[in-house]
Amino acid sequence: MAPNKYMQETDNNLVHTYNRFPVTLERGEGVYIYDTDGKKYLDFAAGIAVSGLGYGNQELNLALKEQIDKLMHSSNLYYNTTCGEAANALKKISGMDRVFFTNSGTEAIEGALKSARKYAWTKKTGRYEYIAMKDSFHGRSMGALSVTEHEAYRAPFEPLIPGVSFAEFNNLDSVKKLVTDKTCAIILEPLQGEGGINMATQEFMEGIRELCSEEGILMICDEIQCGMARTGEMFACQLYDVKPDIMVMAKAIGSGVPVGAFAMTQEVAEYSLVPGDHGTTYGGNPLACAAVAKTIEIFEREDMKAHVKEVGSYLAEKLDELVKEYDAVLERRGIGLIQGIRLNQPVGELTKKALKEGALIISARSDVVRLVPPLVIEKEHVDALIDVLSKVLREML
Ligand SMILES: *Cc1c(COP(=O)(O)O)cnc(C)c1O
Repeated sequence: MAPNKYMQETDNNLVHTYNRFPVTLERGEGVYIYDTDGKKYLDFAAGIAVSGLGYGNQELNLALKEQIDKLMHSSNLYYNTTCGEAANALKKISGMDRVFFTNSGTEAIEGALKSARKYAWTKKTGRYEYIAMKDSFHGRSMGALSVTEHEAYRAPFEPLIPGVSFAEFNNLDSVKKLVTDKTCAIILEPLQGEGGINMATQEFMEGIRELCSEEGILMICDEIQCGMARTGEMFACQLYDVKPDIMVMAKAIGSGVPVGAFAMTQEVAEYSLVPGDHGTTYGGNPLACAAVAKTIEIFEREDMKAHVKEVGSYLAEKLDELVKEYDAVLERRGIGLIQGIRLNQPVGELTKKALKEGALIISARSDVVRLVPPLVIEKEHVDALIDVLSKVLREML
């Protein structure tokens, strides 16, 4: 397909940091997106686990339009009308006590890391080290990259911040071996997204919680991708009945309006950040917070958790059938509407072929097909996706 003017303009003018699919998306409706040629795609990517409500949700859009007409930005030097409401809603669903709004997930990770260091500093514990997990992904700024274990992402930017070590995910002993009297925090995704849809075990999550409480270490859960009802619980750590000291959120909380947040217990808040320690010009702005407040209102009213549990288990059933049917499909991973299938080969060809067949699908690492659709999909959309996957798998094998 010949590149259109949008592709040319993009490729000629942007820094080349992304390998884009050769398609220009223009508008969305429900769980479908249309490109500039009018071709319709079933969306199983949701803009990387962001658009939980799908596209064209009139209630959300109206709330955003109204807020745009009232006030989009005011800075944190003043109070605004939506910031407190959004924070209160996030507190209720997360079980945390205090919230700081950012503009992205990466920035929220930075704030979480700083909070843990400041907590140790205030308490004069002399702790500053972090333990993170292998196959983790927390973002690409210098701090977030420092706790991200992916050699290709890290190598050109070394040295990163010192005092970070990496444990085996789901191996409590390997975490325990890395704990020192300098460890201030352990950071993990309860369900690793970019790393290949790897779910923590119950034993691991409980073990980390216990270890942190015993040793005076803060537990940071990165819920950026796996949070906001994607697993069938509002946050993935709730699947395990484990409460972190700091929770990091982004992606789906604003339904596409760029916003992130980190939240903490009252105990952490009392001993960590004070005025002057951290800030952001846009963070908590009226538009972003209107998006968060309305998103949570809709999720709760529509009982999104129950919907995800139902459609998610149907998706799991159907993916299990693919595992049985095709030798190349090695296993199914994940839960709810964050699932994947691991193939015995790179999945790049499959995602490209699926695009031709009218489905947006992304990968996680090289060999996992990652399925993170809008949370409002129905079983019929799962059936349509499975048809595409089956067709493409038959073609490939
Ligand atoms: C996407 C993601 C991030 C980074 O968030 P951005 O909004 O892209 O900065 C961090 N952690 C996890 C688990 C993510 O999936």
